[in-house]
Amino acid sequence: MTRFNLASRESELAALELSMDEVVEKVEELSGQNVFECYQCGMCSAGCPLAEEMDLLPNQVLHALQMKDEAAMTANSMWICASCYSCQVRCPKGVDLAKVMEGMRQIYLRKRFDHVSLDGLSHREIRRLPQIAIVASLRKKTG
Ligand code: SF4
Ligand code: SF4
Repeated sequence: MTRFNLASRESELAALELSMDEVVEKVEELSGQNVFECYQCGMCSAGCPLAEEMDLLPNQVLHALQMKDEAAMTANSMWICASCYSCQVRCPKGVDLAKVMEGMRQIYLRKRFDHVSLDGLSHREIRRLPQIAIVASLRKKTG
């Protein structure tokens, strides 16, 4: 069962007890990326296969981080991102957006805000599902 609505995302962000300055600092530390390198050309979003499913396009996520806007952390984008690296390949500034998205997810996951719960699965389903799919779904939601 997923907890995937804006209200729960806003309350999870509040529960982190981090200012957006601290969030951006942590994202940069975890991802090894400088989010301020992005100059908003939009190449990443133009090539993202999941952009249509995202509340904020990949370049808009970076813009929100640059503006210290909480929308970066409450949008579903980081959980939709499939880490396909199309954005990283296309970025003229060498920003690895997949790593930025992973850094953002890690901030939640390290506080045990899981977005998928195994409780809704039967023992039979857990036995039959590919283990890699279960592990991947616990780290993010991709659809
Ligand atoms: S890594 Fe994520 S944000 Fe980048 S193109 Fe792939 S799905 Fe989109
Ligand atoms: S491709 Fe790179 S520079 Fe262009 S908007 Fe995306 S992250 Fe920013």
